[in-house]
Amino acid sequence: MITGKYKELYDGLTGVIPKERLLHDSLSTLAFGTDASFYRLIPKLIVKVQSEDELQHVVREADKLTIPITFRAAGTSLSGQAISDSVLVIATHGWQKHEILENGGKIRLQVGLRGFQANGWLAKYGKKIGPDPASIDSAMIGGIAANNASGMCCGTSENSYKTIADIRIVLSDGSILDTASKESCESFVKNNSSILERLEKMAAQVKADKVLNEKIIHKFKIKNTTGYSLNALTDFSNGFDILKHLMIGSEGTLAFISDITYNTVVEHPHKALALAIYPNIESACKAVQILKNQPVSAVELMDRAALRSVDSAKGVPAYLKTISDNAAALLIETRAESNGQLMANTEQISKSIEAIATELPFSFTSDNKEQAILWKIRKETFPTVAGMRKSGRTAIIEDVCFPMPELASATLDLQELFAKHGYTEAVIFGHALEGNLHFVFNPDFNDQTEIDRYSNFMDDVAEMVVDKYDGSLKAEHGTGRNMAPYVEKEWGESAFKLMKEIKDIFDPKGILNPGVILNNDNKIHLKNLKPMASIRESADKCMECGFCEGTCVSEGFTLSPRQRVVAFREMERLRLSGEEPHRAAELNNLYKYAGLATCATDSLCYMKCPVKIDTGKLVKELRHEGHSQRSESIAAYISNNMSSVTAAMRAGLSLFFYIRLIMGKKVFGALATTFHKFSGGLVPLWNEHFPKGAKKLSATKQETHSLTDVVNNTDKVVYFPSCITRAMGVAKDYKDSLEITQITEMLLKRAGYDIVYPNELNSLCCGMAFSSKGFVEAGKQASDKLEAALREASENGKYPILCDMSPCLYTMKTNMGDRLKLYEPAEFIQDKLMGRLNIRQLDKKVAVFAVCSAKKMEVDGAIAAIARKCAKEVVVIDSNCCGFAGDRGFLLPKLNQHGLRFIKEQSIGCEEGYATSRTCEIGLSNHSGITFSSIMYLVEEASR
Ligand SMILES: Cc1cc2nc3c(=O)[nH]c(=O)nc-3n(C[C@H](O)[C@H](O)[C@H](O)COP(=O)(O)OP(=O)(O)OC[C@H]3O[C@@H](n4cnc5c(N)ncnc54)[C@H](O)[C@@H]3O)c2cc1C
Ligand code: SF4
Ligand code: SF4
Repeated sequence: MITGKYKELYDGLTGVIPKERLLHDSLSTLAFGTDASFYRLIPKLIVKVQSEDELQHVVREADKLTIPITFRAAGTSLSGQAISDSVLVIATHGWQKHEILENGGKIRLQVGLRGFQANGWLAKYGKKIGPDPASIDSAMIGGIAANNASGMCCGTSENSYKTIADIRIVLSDGSILDTASKESCESFVKNNSSILERLEKMAAQVKADKVLNEKIIHKFKIKNTTGYSLNALTDFSNGFDILKHLMIGSEGTLAFISDITYNTVVEHPHKALALAIYPNIESACKAVQILKNQPVSAVELMDRAALRSVDSAKGVPAYLKTISDNAAALLIETRAESNGQLMANTEQISKSIEAIATELPFSFTSDNKEQAILWKIRKETFPTVAGMRKSGRTAIIEDVCFPMPELASATLDLQELFAKHGYTEAVIFGHALEGNLHFVFNPDFNDQTEIDRYSNFMDDVAEMVVDKYDGSLKAEHGTGRNMAPYVEKEWGESAFKLMKEIKDIFDPKGILNPGVILNNDNKIHLKNLKPMASIRESADKCMECGFCEGTCVSEGFTLSPRQRVVAFREMERLRLSGEEPHRAAELNNLYKYAGLATCATDSLCYMKCPVKIDTGKLVKELRHEGHSQRSESIAAYISNNMSSVTAAMRAGLSLFFYIRLIMGKKVFGALATTFHKFSGGLVPLWNEHFPKGAKKLSATKQETHSLTDVVNNTDKVVYFPSCITRAMGVAKDYKDSLEITQITEMLLKRAGYDIVYPNELNSLCCGMAFSSKGFVEAGKQASDKLEAALREASENGKYPILCDMSPCLYTMKTNMGDRLKLYEPAEFIQDKLMGRLNIRQLDKKVAVFAVCSAKKMEVDGAIAAIARKCAKEVVVIDSNCCGFAGDRGFLLPKLNQHGLRFIKEQSIGCEEGYATSRTCEIGLSNHSGITFSSIMYLVEEASR
C-alpha cells in the first residue's frame, strides 16, 4: 500500500503518467529492487517514464515533496547504485532515438539504447563508441555514461569522459540544459548562472592549489571511478565544459541524462590475437610494460586460478591443464586498417617481447574461430567462477586499479590477501595495460561471521590499494554504495570536500540517488545485502546480472527473466522459512500472471545468460508443478488422439471463419472480444487473421511426382507438416488460396524431390504444445511417437526431414538431437532448394521476421538471405520474440502486442511479410497491418 508523501507523489504523477506505469505492488517493487550488485533495496514506487516531459514532471514533483529518486537504465551495475528504497525511475522504453552526425564522426544517443546498438549503426562508417564495457550488449547509454564504464580496449583515452561531445540533462529542479544547443546554453546562463559560476570558481581554486591539482591529475592517469570526475576541474575552466564532464561517472546523483553525443572512435577491421603463457606473474607483467608502447589494442592478464577455472570449458586448448602452478597468461590483441599493417604489427609485437621467456611458444592468429576460442578463456572466467559457487553464496566481482609498473607486486599482494582471508576460490584477471584488475570470489552472506570476514577483507584491500600503491578502489564499475565508505580514504579530505560541494551545487536538497558515491554511514557497504536463499539448482546460480533482459519479450510488460528468478527466490525463501505469510500469498498470487502466464517460454534468455540459466525452463517446471492429476490426464489423452484433435480444430476454425463471413468483421469482432473477456481469457481473442480450417491431408506414405522440371529424381525428402499447418488453412487476407502444405509440396516437387510422408501423419505432433505448458509426459509421448515415424520414413536418418514450422522443428531437435537430419524451413530452403530452383527477383518490398526458434538454432540469417534473392527490397523486423508463443497470442494477446509494438512502423511500405511459424504469422499480420505467411509462399512465387 502506498501511503504518506509517496501517495501524494503518486497522486501528483497520475495526471501525466498512466497508472500502468506507476507500480507499487509487492511483486513489482521486489522485482525492481535488484540490480547486478549484491545489495537489495525495495522501492516504494516505480515510475516508468517514456519522455522527457514525463521525466521533468517526476523530478519537479519529487523536488516539491523532497522525495529521493534513483534513475535506472539496464540495472547491470555492480556497486549498488541503481537501486532505491524510495522512488525508482526507469528510463528505458521510449528513450530509443539515435542520430548519426558528421558522417559517423559523432553519434547522438538517447539513454535507453544499449551500447551494442550504437556500434551496430556505426559499423558501416568504420566507427564505434569509445566506452566498451564487457556488458555492452546489455548496458544502456544512460548507465554507461553515468558510470563512466569502460572495458578491454578503451582505457582512459576513449571512455565517456574523453569522448563526450555534448549532453542533454534535466537538473534536480526540472530545468533542462542541452550543451549542443546555443539557445539552451544561453537560457541556462540566464537562469542558472550560479551553477556555472560556482563550478568555474572551484576549478580556479583547484588549479591554484598545486598539491590538490597534481593529486587529481595523478589519480586520473589510471582508470578511476571512485567519487566524482574531479579531473573536470583540472582539465577545464569553462563552466559548461566542467559541467558536462562532471556528469560522466556521476551515477545519477547530479542530474538526469536525456541524451549524450559521443565523438566516435575508429573500429579497425583487421584483428589478430595471441595467448602467451608465462611462468609467473612477474614475467607476464614485465611483458605488459613493453607492450604498453606497442601497437596493441588490448592486453588481458589472467592468473593461474583464473586459467584453471576455465580449462575444462568446451573448445579451450588442452595445454591449459598442463601449465605450471604459478603460470600467468596474457591475451594480446592488435588491430589494423589493412591486413599488411596487421602482419607488421604482429611481427613487431612478438619481437618486442621475445626476450621474456614464455612457458610455451605462442603466435598470433587472425582466424575468427580461433580468436573466439581464445577470447572464451578470458570472457568465461567470471561466469565460470560465479557458476561454480555453492548454492546460497554471492558472486562478487571487484575492480581495482594500480599504476602499471606496480601491477606484478599488486597482483601477488592480492593473492596473499585471498589466502589470508580464506577466499581460496578467488581468481584474478584484468586489463593489464591499464593496471586494472578484477577479482572474483564467492562469500556467503547468510552468515554474520562471513559478513565480518568480507568487511575485514575489504578494509585490507582498501589499505593495500590506497596506502601502498596509491591506486583506485573502483576503476570501471562506479562507487555506488559498495565503495562509498572508502571515498574519503582514497581521495583525502580536501578532494572529498570538493565532491560534497559538487553534490550541493547540483542537488542541494539531496534528492538524486542519495547515499550513492557520498554516504555518511561507513558500514553502508555491509548493509542491505541480498538474501541468497538456496532454492533449486535451476535458479540458484543466477547472479542477477540482467544480461537476459534485453532478449525477453515480457520485459517492460510484466517481468523480465531476472525478475522472474528474483521473485521466485523470495517466494521460495518465504515458503521455506514460513515468514510473512500474508506477503508470501500476495506474491504467489501476482506471480501466476506476471511470472508464469506471460512468459513465452521461448528460452531466448538462456542464450544470453553467462551462467546458463533457462528461465523459460524454470517457468515450464513451475507450470508443471501447478497441474492437477486431471489436467495431466487430459493432456495425455489429447496427445494420444492428435488425429481427432486436429480434425476438431479444422472444423472449429472453419466454423468461426464462415460465421465471421456471414456476420461481418465488426459484429463478430465485438462478440469474440466479449467472449474472450467473460471467459477470463480462456476463449481465444479472435482477430481477422484467424485462418479457416485446413483441408485434411491425404498423404500416402510415399508420393512420387511426375513434373518435367525434375533435377534429380532419386533425391528424397521426408516432409512432416506440423499439426498446426495441418489444422490451419489460409486466412481471408491471403492472396494465394493454396495452403502451406500444398505450397511446400509444390516447391519440393518443383525442385525435383520425391516426398515421403511419415506414416499415420495425421496423428503426429512434436509435443511442443504440451511441454510448453509443463505437460512433460504428454509432450514426451508425442515426441517419441513422432521420432519413430520419422525414423521409419527417413530409413533411419538417410533422408533429410523438413518440418514447415520452426518452433516444432526446434522442439524436435531438442528432443531428437542429431539422430535424424532435421531441417528448419528457411534452413532447408537455403541449403536444399535455392540451388535447384530458377529464382527471379520480384519487384516488391517485403518484411521478414526470424522467429525465436530460428534464432535459438542460429539459422535466423537464412530467411533474410532467401528473401533478398526473391524480392528487391527486404526489411528485417527487429524484435527478439513476437510473444505469440503458441497459444499465448490467442489467450494473452497483450503479450503479443507488446512484443510487436514497433512492427507497424518497421514494416511501412512493405507489401507483405514472411516468417516460418503459422501461429506467429497471425500475430505478425494482426499488428503490422500487412499479411504475413510462410517464406515458402515467397519462394514459390519467385520460382514460378
Ligand atoms: C557481468 C558484468 C560485467 C560487467 N563488465 C563491466 C565492464 O567491463 N566495465 C564496466 O565499466 N562495467 C561493467 N559492468 C557494470 C555495468 O554493466 C556497467 O557499469 C554499465 O555501464 C551499467 O549500465 P546500465 O545501463 O546497467 O546502468 P544502471 O545499472 O541502470 O545504472 C547505472 C548508474 O547510472 C545511473 N543512471 C542510469 N540512467 C541514468 C540517466 N539517464 N541519467 C543519469 N543517471 C542514470 C543509475 O542511477 C546508476 O547510478 C559489468 C556488469 C556485469 C553484471
Ligand atoms: S538468469 Fe542469467 S542472465 Fe539473467 S540475471 Fe540471472 S545470471 Fe544474469
Ligand atoms: S522464456 Fe522468453 S519470455 Fe520467458 S523469461 Fe525467458 S526470454 Fe522472457
